[in-house]
Amino acid sequence: MAILDWIYPKKCLGCGVWGSYICLSCQRSIKRRGDGLRYEGVIRQAIKEIKYRGTYDLVAELVSIWNPQKPSGEILVTAVPMWAGKERKRGYNQAELIARCVARRWSKPYAELLTRVRETRPMYGLSKVERKENVWRAFRVNNQKPQIGKVILIDDVWTSGATMRECTTELKKAGWGVVEGMALAS
Ligand SMILES: [Zn+2]
Repeated sequence: MAILDWIYPKKCLGCGVWGSYICLSCQRSIKRRGDGLRYEGVIRQAIKEIKYRGTYDLVAELVSIWNPQKPSGEILVTAVPMWAGKERKRGYNQAELIARCVARRWSKPYAELLTRVRETRPMYGLSKVERKENVWRAFRVNNQKPQIGKVILIDDVWTSGATMRECTTELKKAGWGVVEGMALAS
């Protein structure tokens, strides 16, 4: 047990048992969807916890449960960016925390390739067309001279794919050959 666990003991978000954020018993109830986890139950709670309360060490636990498959070859890991104003207010971008954790796990480099140039509305409740318009030209690529061909773009929750598509379009315009999107939950 680490010293910090004595000072800030962890409690299961699902059942309240002490020891970790998601206990082994609650881990067994987690269902997978595609490459990620289903956005429901304890996973939904855990992502909200990261978003609104900034529980950093929960990120490592979640990524370890997700256990995303390491892609072969030379890759660069990046995250769907948050608008700077929002990030300043929150203090961090949860997609970036997840992406950095994945990169460390894979022993692959992480780079901040994208910037969100304007504030966008939350995707929840928007139609397909509105979602596309909402993120249209909302991102800018920071690095125009790619050294590595393949980018793994990571987000916390996959809602409609509109954000991932828009980011992918911009990265490809900037010369990145292959872009693969991955989300912890959907
Ligand atoms: Zn539990």
